[in-house]
Amino acid sequence: MKVKVRVVGGGEESADLDRKPDVCPICHHALDPKQHNVYVASGQLSAKGTELEAIYQCTRRECWRLFVGRYRRTASQGEKQVGPFKLKEVQPQTFRPPEVSGEVQEISESFKEIFLQAAAAENDGLKEIAGLGYRKALEFLVKDYCLHKTPEQDEKIKREALGSTIENRIEDPNVKQCAKRAAWIGNDEAHYVRRWVDRVIEDLKILIELTSNWIRNCFLTEKYLKEMDSDNA
Ligand SMILES: [Zn+2]
Repeated sequence: MKVKVRVVGGGEESADLDRKPDVCPICHHALDPKQHNVYVASGQLSAKGTELEAIYQCTRRECWRLFVGRYRRTASQGEKQVGPFKLKEVQPQTFRPPEVSGEVQEISESFKEIFLQAAAAENDGLKEIAGLGYRKALEFLVKDYCLHKTPEQDEKIKREALGSTIENRIEDPNVKQCAKRAAWIGNDEAHYVRRWVDRVIEDLKILIELTSNWIRNCFLTEKYLKEMDSDNA
């Protein structure tokens, strides 16, 4: 993609960009953005390490925001860098909250709230806080699910340790095994010494997502079995 580049001190030169961004970093929709001016960020166009900044605009009427694509050359010949400028990053990136299904929200509004806060903290680079937040979100998800199934056990469920709730009250093997592993990692996030050092926030998030998906499956299966009783078929 040949473009005109505005160089330092005025004037224009021609450069080759490998591609446009294909997702708006603000509204997160896939698109072919409108390109405005392209600037050389510093020095000579052919020099090593030179960056280009291209201004783009989202084409969705609801968004219409401007953003910047940063490009750099990676191939060099002697002192000069050659070949197309490659898209390295797109800024600003806005936070995209993870999705929580309607059924899981119905079971635990608190889980959704805490999970989104943990994701926001992680997005801001606050990994330690995010880990604690995900651990807390898991506890609300599991306990609220058990409260939903056995509301009469309210006081006991709220007081007992998360591990006991998972071990003694969850029957579905998928929910149980995923929640158990999420709790193992989650406990490490909350404690001074980590036992599962190679297990990071990514794994905790995936396990919470799995737990949440299995809980949704159980919730919907129970609902349909109850509503469509085989005796009434
Ligand atoms: Zn947009």
